[in-house]
Amino acid sequence: MTTQKYLQRKIQRVNEFFFRYQEVLKKDTHLWQLLEQYQKDFQHTQKVYTRVGVDQICAACGRTKKVCCGLGMELYCEDVLLLLNLLLGFRFPEKRLKEHWCFFLKEDGCSLLIRPLLCRNYFCDELQESLSHNDLVSLQEALGPEAESLFALLEYTKTLCPGI
Ligand code: SF4
Ligand code: SF4
Repeated sequence: MTTQKYLQRKIQRVNEFFFRYQEVLKKDTHLWQLLEQYQKDFQHTQKVYTRVGVDQICAACGRTKKVCCGLGMELYCEDVLLLLNLLLGFRFPEKRLKEHWCFFLKEDGCSLLIRPLLCRNYFCDELQESLSHNDLVSLQEALGPEAESLFALLEYTKTLCPGI
């Protein structure tokens, strides 16, 4: 089966779960507390990314042909993570912007509001060589709480949406 076919099935499945469970999710106060905590931790990590210069390095890289958010990466996004993105107002794009790009990549970066740890934790060789040891340690430290709150969020959501 092609990447596109897998993706179509995945989107259909996530949309069906969202349709079935959106009211349950909207009313669950604990879920919104977990979402709030995740967003705080995510924003903190973003600040560290900006402070150490990751944003600039990756933006410059994005202006070249090279891209680490490549075709097929969208299939690594768990269904439950995509479901929560829909809950926060994200909508699936109609089409891939460029044929060698991840389905969720836009001109200004990833369009997901909740992002997979696999992506957040990826530092290519060039990036690692550009950053000091201390900066890399700061990034890893910032990612710890985000990883924990993401895990708690995804696991709790699974209990509200059996089968996802
Ligand atoms: S992680 Fe590396 S390959 Fe990906 S955008 Fe940043 S510099 Fe480029
Ligand atoms: S960060 Fe976003 S756009 Fe990049 S590979 Fe991950 S999901 Fe795709």
